[in-house]
Amino acid sequence: MEIVVVKESTYMHKPTVEHPENPRRIVKIKSALASHDLKYVEVSIEKVDIEEAIKISSKIHRKKYVDYIMELSSKTPTFIDEDTYMSENSLKLALATMYLSYTYALSNGHVFLVSRPPGHHVGLNGRAMGASTQGFCIFNNAAAAVQGFMDNGLRKILVLDFDAHHGNGTMEIFYRERILQIDLHQDPDTLYPHTGYPDEIGEGEGYGYKLNIILTPGSGDDVFVELLNNMVEVAKKYAPEALVVSAGFDAFENDGLADLNLTEKSYYSLGALIRELNTPAVVILEGGYGVGLQRGVVAFSKGLMGVKEEYPVLTETPSTQYRRIIDIARRVIEKTSRFIS
Ligand SMILES: [Zn+2]
Repeated sequence: MEIVVVKESTYMHKPTVEHPENPRRIVKIKSALASHDLKYVEVSIEKVDIEEAIKISSKIHRKKYVDYIMELSSKTPTFIDEDTYMSENSLKLALATMYLSYTYALSNGHVFLVSRPPGHHVGLNGRAMGASTQGFCIFNNAAAAVQGFMDNGLRKILVLDFDAHHGNGTMEIFYRERILQIDLHQDPDTLYPHTGYPDEIGEGEGYGYKLNIILTPGSGDDVFVELLNNMVEVAKKYAPEALVVSAGFDAFENDGLADLNLTEKSYYSLGALIRELNTPAVVILEGGYGVGLQRGVVAFSKGLMGVKEEYPVLTETPSTQYRRIIDIARRVIEKTSRFIS
């Protein structure tokens, strides 16, 4: 697994007002990786074929939405909605990040792509599943990676989304397809985009292939690691040919935008699980606005790379919640597992 950092993401797509999704996020990740001797390569978007990228974007989004974004890009600085800004080079960086996600998948890559803007909230037409905004996202990078694997002839693709927010855009795009999607996120009653309830399990061909696993605010490492252990069984039963990961680091404690309390233990376990699945994998940075961008990314990368570390469980979930969360997850798995093959 290689960590790839997109150079331009440290300075392009810049908000004109104070905004949590800004280039400093990537600067922080780079310095955290460097200070832990975790090697990464830097790539530039200069060589990305923008015309080709526009074509790919129309495979995952409706043309009308793509046209709308193109049109907006001539009016920058502007906002797509109250949460999602567009600056001078936003279109370029967003298109390139999406396109790189696609091409790494198309070539059976093993990469952790560190770039911006995130993508998992943007659906077929922009706002997904009735959400109020696109939550900082312009094009769906994870969906582009799924498309890349499909264009490469693969069918059994597992999408794992562990951002604190539900990946409503990706879920919407593949809701009726037989692509296994496991999304662990904070209880939608308590957080944007307010979708991703356990009873949303897909439709049509996709019925039973969507697992929404919820965490109540305050959940810690103990419950998260237990959920992951349950997920391993599901993932192994499905036997994926490829993996797309929406890697958000906003479930880390003190993120500021979410209310979960995960620490290194959970992120290391996630990295190790992805490594254990041992398939082509495109891992894409989604959210993360606090210290998770440093401590979470480092622990996750160590897990991905197979660096031996013993992280203790630092945060525990109140026992009444613990039981409830595990019970709900088990019911989801029970309900869906007879469909998954
Ligand atoms: Zn998020």
